[in-house]
Amino acid sequence: MTAVELIEKKRDGETLTANEIRWLIGAYTDGTVTDYQMAAMTMAVFINGLNGEELAVWTDSMMHSGDVLNFDHIPKPKVDKHSTGGVGDKVSIPLGPMVASCGVAIPMMSGRGLGHTGGTLDKLESIPGFTTGLDQSKFTAILERHGLVLAGQSESLVPADRKLYALRDATGTVPSIPLIASSIMSKKLAEDLDGLVLDVKVGHGAFMKDVESARKLAETMVGIGSAHGTTTVAYLTSMDEPLGFEVGNASEIVESIAVLRGNGPDDLTEVTMVLAAEMLVLGKIDDSVEAARQRLTRTVESGSALELFGKVIEAQGGDPRVIDDQSLLPSASHTFELKAPKSGSVRGVNALAVGRAAMRLGAGRETKEDMVDPAVGISLRAKTGHTVEIGEPVAVLHFNDHDRVEAALALLRDAWDIGDPAGPAPLVIERISS
Ligand code: URA
Repeated sequence: MTAVELIEKKRDGETLTANEIRWLIGAYTDGTVTDYQMAAMTMAVFINGLNGEELAVWTDSMMHSGDVLNFDHIPKPKVDKHSTGGVGDKVSIPLGPMVASCGVAIPMMSGRGLGHTGGTLDKLESIPGFTTGLDQSKFTAILERHGLVLAGQSESLVPADRKLYALRDATGTVPSIPLIASSIMSKKLAEDLDGLVLDVKVGHGAFMKDVESARKLAETMVGIGSAHGTTTVAYLTSMDEPLGFEVGNASEIVESIAVLRGNGPDDLTEVTMVLAAEMLVLGKIDDSVEAARQRLTRTVESGSALELFGKVIEAQGGDPRVIDDQSLLPSASHTFELKAPKSGSVRGVNALAVGRAAMRLGAGRETKEDMVDPAVGISLRAKTGHTVEIGEPVAVLHFNDHDRVEAALALLRDAWDIGDPAGPAPLVIERISS
């Protein structure tokens, strides 16, 4: 078998056999297939796609390119959640302790922010001392003890994806549904899950700008999950405007703690509840989402979810006192109030503009090498449905570097759509299962 033959087959729209795909992914991982050959192959896949069988084998081969975890010794259902990424999307942080305190084990491996979207790891690392780089034995020990661990992906898991993602990034082949779906699912399935809930974001601030492409991505990932034997449910949720009021890192921890106390913003709490309830049903803790929601409400009201979050923070080296004393989190030296340019009803807040502005302030990375400033960010004061008067603040920018403010303000200038009242757009758009 040669790489050239397989590239030619895919270039000409033919179907690759399971053996061919397994060889290709293995040979790319060990360096036998070169970057330039794989670049040609990913472009051929970008153009001609992969059918369901090819995709299942492609994903499985990626998953087996490195270690695959095994948690059979943990006598709990193992369920995780993955979001395709958004602005102000801190759902994993309150969801983890809520679901884990109901008896599900969550071996959560998250990512870092890149571009306008934030990353769960960066947010967690704003907690003093919190470490997300855990070796496998520490990862497993925390999962056994608390039913929840919040870490980065270890080097030994799905090495094929690390190489392939960097290659796609440099060759214009990131936005391909089969390549995105296999990349995400190979990493999640390597966690040895009984169930997986996917939050596929749709809108200005999301990877997928329209419902049709988000649905296609969701259906593709659900199909991969079921081919692998892992029950997978996807929700399409709106990312036209940021989730919650805080976009940053430390500030998103504060807002996550508010959800765990039962007084978080409505949109953030609702998306968290929808996904968390589905996880309890997939984990067979509850028979219905209604029962699951009641259980989740009880775990918040009793304080047990918040208590568990404190224990996980401590287990991962962080200072659990942040739960009661948020002055222990980093805060920015300066603030700037952004004023409403006119009076009226807020009809929308452009999530992409807010995400990019937060990145310019230093809350995110333009390139993988950039450092994140955990203290900076944007606090929204007005979102869809709010009425504002001209000159009233619609947002507060928190910053440490004056030189960054101008660029952020330029992005935010037209981010608020203010006019006649508009009906609320749906937050949870669709549920997709096999
Ligand atoms: N996230 C991933 O993990 N992979 C992709 O290809 C895109 C988003």
